[in-house]
Amino acid sequence: MLRTGFIRRAACFRPLKASVPSYRPLSFTAFRLNKNQEITKSAAQELASAKEASDLIGPGGREGEVPTDIEQATGLERLELLAELSGQDAFDMKPLDASRKGTLNDPIIVTSLDPYRHIGCSGSPSGSHDLIWMTVNEHKPRRCPECGSVYKLKYNGDPHASHH
Ligand SMILES: [Zn+2]
Repeated sequence: MLRTGFIRRAACFRPLKASVPSYRPLSFTAFRLNKNQEITKSAAQELASAKEASDLIGPGGREGEVPTDIEQATGLERLELLAELSGQDAFDMKPLDASRKGTLNDPIIVTSLDPYRHIGCSGSPSGSHDLIWMTVNEHKPRRCPECGSVYKLKYNGDPHASHH
């Protein structure tokens, strides 16, 4: 009886959950492959040589076997998998550096693939003041009006993009 109730409740939560973008952890196969030096090395090579989306295609599974993620994953999933296998993060999930207060001479550097990036400062240590949202751009360091910490953007995007 209890069990049925639980299942029913879980079922009605499902649509809600589906609307929230979720981070899908790598499958068991990927973790098992991670121990294989050969695959780690070839993943790093493939990642380094991938220049565009059409490069992110796997070799496909072998006949009579269930394909592994590294054999069949494509696109962004493959990019994330290759990064994971070679010990990197394709999508940085680290919070903003709140280990110290940035100064004009030594600002907190915010890296970005776009000419601007939104940041949320809550002081140092983090949580010292209410969250304040700011936009940092390439041209001028930005100072938090609450704690005075200085942030500066470092543009890591395409140098040939005409964003100026
Ligand atoms: Zn602040």
